[in-house]
Amino acid sequence: MREYLLNIGPTSQKLVYLKSEGVVMSQRLLVVEDSKPIATVIKQIARSLKFDVVIATDLAQVENILSSDTDFFAATIDYALPDALDGEAIACVLSHGIPSIVMTGKMDDETRQKILAQPVIDYIPKENSQAFLYLKRVLHWQQTNSQNTILVVDDSSSARNHVVELLKRRNFNVITANNGVQALEKLAQHKNIKMVITDLEMPAMDGIELTNEIRRVYTREQLAVIGISGASNGIHSARFIKNGADDFLRKPFCPEEFYCRITQNIESLNNIAKIQHAANTDYLTDLANRRAFFRSAESRIKEYINKKVPYCLAMIDIDFFKRVNDTYGHDIGDQVLKVIALYMRKHFGAGLTARLGGEEFAVLLHGLDADNLYNKLDDFRREISVSSIPAGNTTISITLSLGVVFDSLDEFSKQMNEADNALYAAKENGRNQIVVFGAELND
Ligand code: GH3
Ligand code: MG
Ligand code: MG
Ligand code: MG
Repeated sequence: MREYLLNIGPTSQKLVYLKSEGVVMSQRLLVVEDSKPIATVIKQIARSLKFDVVIATDLAQVENILSSDTDFFAATIDYALPDALDGEAIACVLSHGIPSIVMTGKMDDETRQKILAQPVIDYIPKENSQAFLYLKRVLHWQQTNSQNTILVVDDSSSARNHVVELLKRRNFNVITANNGVQALEKLAQHKNIKMVITDLEMPAMDGIELTNEIRRVYTREQLAVIGISGASNGIHSARFIKNGADDFLRKPFCPEEFYCRITQNIESLNNIAKIQHAANTDYLTDLANRRAFFRSAESRIKEYINKKVPYCLAMIDIDFFKRVNDTYGHDIGDQVLKVIALYMRKHFGAGLTARLGGEEFAVLLHGLDADNLYNKLDDFRREISVSSIPAGNTTISITLSLGVVFDSLDEFSKQMNEADNALYAAKENGRNQIVVFGAELND
């Protein structure tokens, strides 16, 4: 689900542009807490994560609420409540299938054991303000972990199920395999796996061999591997790490340690992905940038040529854009660039779109015959030329010139030159038009 929201500046209202699908349903959080100040802090945190909050101040209220309404994404539960001093509310909330985070004032080993004996997401000692920062992270993971797929590899079904259960509590998407050979098959089938958690000793292919095989294909930036072994000998962790694993857990491990390792490794992968995204994305329009476009377009074009798929490469330039900046200011100019990008997404969803720089864009389209590809470009050009584009208090009209090359067999950089030459001809010829490379001399 995506919604492209464009804030058109202080003087004009917010406009929702080209909303592609529906809105995201808000999630509800049940906050069980007798201290009003703490409930308020948790509520603020939850609001910042877009939760709707329902507060219960004692066990009686919890029971009352849950008797008629159990549709909660998660709950935070204060361990000690006026009418439930010893964590009785935890079992009550869990019995309704609501994933729960326990907030505790006391942190002795007995309390910890009591809490961990139940399938809670986590428990957080309310020692200081760190507790609330941590709660925010836990809730955020709970909302986003379903996007992270983890493959659990173990020949022992009880050991495997234990790990799977811990991961599912944290909303991870989980896939399993019984040995290394099966794990490689699952990796080939499911391209979105981010992490492999593997046992050491298994029939067919053990964890070390599996790690080795994985590293032939996947870099550490693409896939994390965590080794698990029951052997008390430290040599196994060394072997796992030296064969390309990112981390190691020795059985038996406590849930805190398990979650800490998993979360750190997933976060580091996600941070790398964010950096890579930033390096490939134009900051203003969120389209691919020049570098990313050149890399992707070149390899896609090779594929189209090999498979004889018809395609076209177009360069798009805004006409007289300097005048927009001169008349309305640079900020409005930026808004116009964003609007053009939104229209590009709308018209060329399946294609590869980019902002090459300044007011110049590019698109690579395929999968239709040349006439239909041309029509797609022209529909886009025409829609822009008749649109009123918001510019502060007023709206402005914009036109585009396009240069396009169809099914060229030349190398990529030459094709870009061909499209650019056609674009130049479109400008010379009066703008607001498409010129096809090879046909421009006939005009
Ligand atoms: P033509 O029809 O020949 O393309 O005329 P033009 O005015 O669009 O072309 P020219 O190359 O003379 O000017 C491009 C302008 O684009 C100049 C520059 O101020 C503006 N521009 C480039 N990048 C940005 C940007 O990121 N934001 C804004 N607001 N303006 C930009
Ligand atoms: Mg085993
Ligand atoms: Mg221009
Ligand atoms: Mg230009």
